[in-house]
Amino acid sequence: MIDFSIPEETRMLVDTVRRFVEAEVRPLEAETEETGRIPADRLAVVKRKAQDLGLFALNMPEEVGGGGLSCVDHCFVEEELGKTSDALIRRIFGQVYPMLLECREDQREKYLLPTVRGEKICAMAITEPGAGSDAASISTHAELDGDEWVLNGNKHFISDGDIADYVIVMALTDKERRARGGITLFLVDKGTPGFKVARVQPMMGHHGYGHAELVFDNVRIPRDAVLGEVGNGFKLIMNTVAEIRLAHIGARAVGMASRALEMMRTYAADRHQFGKPIGDFQMVQKMIADSAAEIFGVKMMVLNTAWEIDQRRDVRTKVSAVKFAASEMQGRVVDRAIQVFGGMGFTRELPLERMYRDARVTRIYDGTSEIHRMLVARGVIKNGFDILGLGV
Ligand SMILES: Cc1cc2nc3c(=O)[nH]c(=O)nc-3n(C[C@H](O)[C@H](O)[C@H](O)COP(=O)(O)OP(=O)(O)OC[C@H]3O[C@@H](n4cnc5c(N)ncnc54)[C@H](O)[C@@H]3O)c2cc1C
Repeated sequence: MIDFSIPEETRMLVDTVRRFVEAEVRPLEAETEETGRIPADRLAVVKRKAQDLGLFALNMPEEVGGGGLSCVDHCFVEEELGKTSDALIRRIFGQVYPMLLECREDQREKYLLPTVRGEKICAMAITEPGAGSDAASISTHAELDGDEWVLNGNKHFISDGDIADYVIVMALTDKERRARGGITLFLVDKGTPGFKVARVQPMMGHHGYGHAELVFDNVRIPRDAVLGEVGNGFKLIMNTVAEIRLAHIGARAVGMASRALEMMRTYAADRHQFGKPIGDFQMVQKMIADSAAEIFGVKMMVLNTAWEIDQRRDVRTKVSAVKFAASEMQGRVVDRAIQVFGGMGFTRELPLERMYRDARVTRIYDGTSEIHRMLVARGVIKNGFDILGLGV
């Protein structure tokens, strides 16, 4: 028997997060969007409340101070977080990259633990002006000089790169081997001589946090500033990115789309034209029905994949399928919501136009739709549909 019932504990957790987002976080959305900044005094209060409720760094294991959630529960929570903006999620609930669990004991005190406590901000620098989808073609490189690495190169679009206390930098340590043992992750502190934030790159959406171009010009870092092992950086990223991709893109997409659907639903009942609620018109009903069915489909994909992660199965192809299905569904649903609201949908008086802009990037970052389609196609062509784990 397949049991889809949701445990009471999960329901209570989701309910707590939902009420917290509605009461404490959403009131910060408009000002953050308008000014590009989260009001600092109010942020500090809300973040403290989230921490007191145990809602910070929920994806991290309990032994390092995190929430210790299963991937399924993490995705349920992220769905609720997806109902507000990414900037607020990052600052109030934390953005802790799972590869930080690779920190050695001495690195834990300096990087992992303060990040889980919300005292330090971490950025992840992979993308370069010359290397995006083809991440293994990076040119940032590090050479050993005595007891230090010397790091040189440029990164761009780095989320939180402007304010991060430290950055995980992906660099070549063997130009021949590249993804096959020639790429290493380095922990680089803000303020290290030669490490500069060149500029903040203005974006169409995701206002409230920065995306920065970073320059590493003969940056000297200690030999032990390596995260994981020399040469295993590419593998480490590929092995730890699945849950983040699933939760931050898949589950949040379900959340944002559900919020848009809820707005459509109430507006379709309240708004009257031609003497009737617009929800009585079949073309409006189609937009609502299509949205509900698509959200349902992606939510099932997210939860099924999360469950497989909890069983420690290899879900890379599934996560690629979820990534492009979720981000594209999110765009379509928010687009329909704007249509249902007519002119009101296009105004800046409603959160829909922000959601429309914010949703757009989910088809681009963390692997574009095209790259993930290519990975799914390769997996299915080589191994058949069973690669998606649904065969019996
Ligand atoms: C808001 C934002 C935040 C980001 N945050 C971070 C961050 O924190 N850290 C980080 O390292 N990076 C970050 N990125 C970078 C992001 O991951 C890249 O933009 C993304 O991987 C795509 O790379 P690219 O922009 O260089 O596009 P390109 O790789 O140049 O792609 C351009 C187009 O070509 C297509 N294409 C490329 N190769 C193929 C192929 N083989 N087959 C078919 N089509 C192909 C792509 O799908 C795309 O449509 C961020 C980007 C944005 C916009």
